Amino acid sequence: MAESEVDSAPLVVARAAGKRFADGTLALQSIELSIQRQEFVTIVGPSGCGKSTFLRLVAGLTEASAGTLTVADVAPVVARRASNDMAFVFQDPNLLPWRTVERNVSLPLELANRNSEVRSEHVNTALQMVGLEEFRRSFPSQLSGGMRMRVSIARALVTQPRLLLMDEPFGALDEISRLRLNEEISELWRRDQWTGLFVTHNVAEAVYLSQRVLVMSARPGRLVADIAVPFPYPRLPSLRTDVRFNEIVEQVALTLHQTRA
Ligand code: ADP
Repeated sequence: MAESEVDSAPLVVARAAGKRFADGTLALQSIELSIQRQEFVTIVGPSGCGKSTFLRLVAGLTEASAGTLTVADVAPVVARRASNDMAFVFQDPNLLPWRTVERNVSLPLELANRNSEVRSEHVNTALQMVGLEEFRRSFPSQLSGGMRMRVSIARALVTQPRLLLMDEPFGALDEISRLRLNEEISELWRRDQWTGLFVTHNVAEAVYLSQRVLVMSARPGRLVADIAVPFPYPRLPSLRTDVRFNEIVEQVALTLHQTRA
């Protein structure tokens, strides 16, 4: 395949993908989805509908029990192991309390046996990206919740991933921190254009961040709508008061509501 064809092929493809757990719980059913390289896509859905399960499938942490799911044309577990191309951000920043900020951020590079020169260069860049250079020698306990989440984002971006999977990363933060981090993650994506797959049940957050919002039904999770968000980037906070923005928020919210009926 020519290079340009490879680049234009979708990065994540699900065909009739489903997940039934060993205890019989059907979490996901008939998921059809393509995510293009450098797209930012968010999945919204009610609690327990299978959003995390879908991210875990994409990450290769669990396997589809029906249909297929590929990342860069191979099984997700192969894609994950073959390269350092996938990174995760979870609601819990999961920082090591005995390591400083910079040593938490450098951890994935240490695990990948990168030499100290490369590590320090990449850690510096990642800390700059999230505005934490001044806190590099602080410990997690000395930081606010929003700052800890920034460390977690820096630790994910330090590997320069092609695909960033984010599972309700801002769910535990206060509203002001959440709004600020929405702006920051959007700007980081605009600058570096990794492929973003984000999960949330906050509709405004989904619309603010994404080029496309996928709505998932209550369990078993099925994709019931694929809503384009046409606003250009950078997206500024003023977008939140734009009439068209709020129309899309309402459209997503209504679709979500209908899936519960
Ligand atoms: P969401 O992220 O949308 O809140 P999850 O993907 O975490 O939902 O869970 C989807 C459904 O699958 C839930 O009903 C959950 O209880 C169930 N589930 C998740 N993991 C397992 C598992 N390992 N075994 C059985 N059921 C599970």
